[in-house]
Parts: sequence; structure tokens; C-alpha cells
Amino acid sequence: MPIEIKVPSLGESVTTATVGKWLKQPGDAVKTDEPVVELETDKVSVEVPAPADGRLAAHAVAEGDEVAVGAVLATLEQGAAGASAPAKAAPAAAKADKPAAQPAAAAKPAAAQAEAPAETDYDVLVIGAGPGGYVCAIRAAQLGFKVACVEKRATLGGTCLNVGCIPSKALLQSSENYHAAGHDFAAHGVVIDSVKLDLARMQARKADIVGANVKGVEYLFKKNGITWLKGHGKVEGTGRVTVDGKPVTAKHIIIASGSDSANLPGIEVDEKTIVTSTGALELSEVPKRLVVIGGGVIGLELGSVWQRLGAEVTVIEYLNRLVPGTDNEVASQFQKLLVKQGFKLKLGHKVTKAEKTKKGVVLTVEPAAGGAAETLEADIVLLAVGRTAASKGMGLEEAGIELDKRGRVVTDAHFATNVPGIYAIGDVIAGPMLAHKAEEEGVALAEILAGQAGHVNYDAIPGVIYTWPEVASVGFTEEQLKGKGTAYKIGKFPFMANGRARALGMTDGFVKVLACEKTDRVLGVHIIGPCAGELIAEATMAIEFGASAEDIGRVCHAHPTLSEAVKEAALGADNRSINI
Ligand SMILES: Cc1cc2nc3c(=O)[nH]c(=O)nc-3n(C[C@H](O)[C@H](O)[C@H](O)COP(=O)(O)OP(=O)(O)OC[C@H]3O[C@@H](n4cnc5c(N)ncnc54)[C@H](O)[C@@H]3O)c2cc1C
Repeated sequence: MPIEIKVPSLGESVTTATVGKWLKQPGDAVKTDEPVVELETDKVSVEVPAPADGRLAAHAVAEGDEVAVGAVLATLEQGAAGASAPAKAAPAAAKADKPAAQPAAAAKPAAAQAEAPAETDYDVLVIGAGPGGYVCAIRAAQLGFKVACVEKRATLGGTCLNVGCIPSKALLQSSENYHAAGHDFAAHGVVIDSVKLDLARMQARKADIVGANVKGVEYLFKKNGITWLKGHGKVEGTGRVTVDGKPVTAKHIIIASGSDSANLPGIEVDEKTIVTSTGALELSEVPKRLVVIGGGVIGLELGSVWQRLGAEVTVIEYLNRLVPGTDNEVASQFQKLLVKQGFKLKLGHKVTKAEKTKKGVVLTVEPAAGGAAETLEADIVLLAVGRTAASKGMGLEEAGIELDKRGRVVTDAHFATNVPGIYAIGDVIAGPMLAHKAEEEGVALAEILAGQAGHVNYDAIPGVIYTWPEVASVGFTEEQLKGKGTAYKIGKFPFMANGRARALGMTDGFVKVLACEKTDRVLGVHIIGPCAGELIAEATMAIEFGASAEDIGRVCHAHPTLSEAVKEAALGADNRSINI
């Protein structure tokens, strides 16, 4: 039966294109993914590939014609020149000719293309069931693809659900409750004579929460008819992978293998006394002295957990500040509040050696700028110096897939690698290593594969640090706007002046809104304070919809709520805050 070759999604806000050169004529034999026709828009130049092996039956439009996204370009007699491809597979995505993250121009390994299977077991096969992979698999199944997901871990959900976002937030909540019971409740007139810690129970609660979440993903796979292929996935080339050595074929292969904790030379992790975040989530005793190497988000969140439970926490950071990339004003307030809580900070220092002793670990620490070394003793050392892309040992280089200097898979604006039919999303590609960024990419890619206009707005990806107080931001920092030469205005509102914050007894911090001087468009919002991670959603929505500061200021916010601080800060951009 003839199948139609249609105008694919051409990117955000592009609805039409001009038909360029026909690369195949009626009667020509074509192979899957072989370019059939060129399309031109003012943004991209696209070669539309054949969705299956066969023979081109007829052109439906002529060169120079204006065509809309979704319009029929040609018909193809499927299988007339070979075996048939999976019926459900949609046309491959357009490739931007100036891709956001390079590669489409990179040489396509001929071997990988030549050996592409004519028939495949699945339409879409995802390697990795983290938030990028499992969300992509679900969206692809919703769109009618036959989907499999390869996962080597015993449970689904990836780093995030098993050893990342979820267990860390469970322990952050429990430790916050413990600390509040011992330190804050008395101010409310709630007197507790002795607060006791049951760490085993706290850890068991965390394990239950993780268990419920990972089982939830398993349920979602069943509900959406997704096959979980248990084992280690290896890419062999276009259309081909192996799972624990067993061959499996798919029209579209998606690498969503995530990331691993980064190492430091001279420091050997044993996950007992020298731990990564994974070991730090599993401690069965509160360490007396915890040294955290790295003043980033993960180190400070897990440092907070153990500090609240009684550990003396020292953070050693190479730079002269914490949480690089965060708005300077927010970061400096954050640093002051952490020190007030009892954190010891050794900024501008590096750890050069870690020696295990009977009692714990002795660290050698030197000023980053050079100078005399000193030693520091710890019961537990948490190595939290970032994460690296998990791109090794899965056949990527052998298959000719381009990796950057940091081992990340290089993709174009539509998540395509340089090897046809192979895509990548999440922590294994460039961009912030965040679960929700991976999820957005998973959804966008599934939609692109289905011929829709999936996209991710990288200017509106919020970031949250779940410490006390929380820190949340979206859009540009003041430093970035200065660097770009953008004229901006600032609106700021302290939680001290917010009624709900006072009622909660949580008045540390502020909301800062950065808006364009000329247009009033919101360019960045930075919050340090209670529930900052929830409050940032309104700011993200504002940036996504191109709202002005005045738009936020004119929206009715319930009283008394913390969100009124966001409204007041937005009004402040025009010097018209009411309550300060
Ligand atoms: C302690 C900690 C706390 C965090 N907290 C937050 C937070 O609060 N918010 C946030 O947004 N982000 C947080 N993150 C980051 C977040 O976990 C990651 O950004 C997110 O998990 C990335 O998703 P992903 O799908 O790209 O990869 P991952 O979640 O890493 O999943 C990849 C999966 O692929 C599997 N895999 C890899 N290679 C293969 C192979 N060859 N074959 C089969 N399976 C394979 C792995 O087993 C893994 O399950 C945290 C991370 C850590 C470590």
C-alpha cells in the first residue's frame, strides 16, 4: 500500500516551507532515511528522508511550491525496492542547518548506514530509564510507536528516582523536621523535652518512597505497553543494538544513559568512608565530622541533611564562592545563611590527597592559588565535584557517534547524533544536568519523531537547591545580563516584609526580578527563601509566555501567601511595591 511522505516538523513557529530540489524521481528506488526532496525555510534547509524502503510512486508538489507542515509531498510504494519498514514509524525529524549544538554536518559513518535493518523489532528503543528515557518512552508510546526501553539497573527511574532527586529530598524533609522539632518548635509554643533521632527509620522511610516511585514507573510502562528490556544496552549502528549481547533492532534509537559522579585524581571512592552522593544517602550513622568536597548543589543538599542531623560539616570548594552560575547576590546571601547554620567553608581550596586511616580519612588541602598545604581529618568524605556523561562502554565511539571533549553525545537542535536514526537526550548531552530538562527533551524528541513540533525552551529551565532556605532561579542572572550588555531593571522584595513568611517564622531571603529596561519583559527571577522551589514555577511560566514584570504585578495573588513576594518584587521593577 502506498505511504505518504509529508512535510515534517520544521521547528518552533515554522509552519510553511518552499519545495527545493527533488532528489528522487517517480520510479526511483529509495532506502529508509535516504533524502527524497529538499525544503527551504528562512530558518532551516531540510532534506526530507524516505520513511521506508520502496519505490517513489509520484510527486504531489512541484519545485518552488509553498507547502504547509504536514502536507503530502510524495507517495511511496513501500517495499517495492526491498523489505518493509515498521508501519508506525513516522518520518525522521528535520535537521536545522545551523544546529544549536553542532554535528549534523559531521560525516555520517557509511558502515552504520549501510547495515541498517530493513525490518525492525521496535519503532523506538530507548537506552536508559531515567527521567529522560522513561518519559520519552511513555510519550512515544502515547503517540503510537512500538516502544522498548533498555535498563540495566534492577529498578526503573534512573539516577533521579533511585539515588538522586527523590531519596535526597526524602532525607532533606526528614532532617528538616528533626531540626525544626529540636530548634524551631519552641518558638511556636510547642515544647518537646527530648527529640530523638531514629536514623534507621528515617532511612527506611526514604527507601519506601524510592520503592513506590520506581514501581510507579514500572506500572506506567505496563499501562503504555512499553517493553522493558533488562540488561546492558550497546549501540551497534543505525537501527541496531544489543542487550546483554542479544541483538535487537529499532527504527529510532535514543541514548538516555544519564551521568555518573565525577572523580578526583588521588581520591579513591569506597562508598563507605569516601562516598559519592549514592553512599551519602545510605549512611547508617551520623558522622561526627563530614567533609564535603565541592560547593555545588548536591554537596550542599547532602551536607545539609547530615548537618541538621548533628554532623560538623566542612565544605571545601576550589572557587572562591559556592554554587557557581547562581546570581551573585543570591549566592552571597546563601553563603551567609549556611555559615549562620554552622557550615564551615574552605573556599578557594583544593583537595590533593585523601588517605584512609583507622579512624576515618586525612585530607591534604591546598589553596587553589598556591600556598602551604594543610591536613584535615574527617569521619566521612563526600566527593561531590559534579557529574560526567555516562557514554562509555556502550559502543558509541565504535558506532561512529560523535562525543565532545567531556564525553557528552553531540546532537543537533533536534537531538539527532551524526549517525542516522540515533538520538540522545538528558544528562548524556550538553545542558544542565537536571531531571526536568531531561524530561522535556524526552517529550520533545518523541514528538519530533512523530512529525510534531516538539521543542525545549532552554531559557526557561528552572534550577532549585533544596537546602534551607531554598534557592531557585530561572532565566538570566544579573551577571549574565551585564555580560550580554542588556539594559535591565531590578525589583526586589524581602520575605521579612511578607505576612505569610512572618507567620511561618521563615523570613530569611528575598525575591529578585530582573526585567528588560526597555520592554519590561521578565528576563530572570532569583529567589532565596521558603518554598523558593515552588514559587519559581510562576516565574518560569512568565518567562515561557514572554510576560512583563507588570503582568506579574497585575495578577491577583492570594493573601497571605509567599507568592505575594513574587508579585511585590515584580512591582518593584517599576518602583511600585506596596508593602515596603
Ligand atoms: C544526589 C542527587 C540529587 C539530585 N537532585 C536533583 C533534583 O532535585 N532535581 C533535578 O532536577 N535533578 C537532580 N539530580 C540530577 C538528576 O538526577 C539527573 O539530571 C537526571 O536523573 C538525569 O536523567 P537522565 O534520564 O538523563 O539519566 P539518569 O537518571 O542518570 O538515567 C540513566 C539510566 O540509564 C541507565 N543506563 C546507562 N547506560 C546504560 C546501558 N548501556 N544499558 C542500559 N541502561 C543504561 C542507568 O542505569 C540509568 O538508570 C540529582 C542527582 C543526584 C545524584
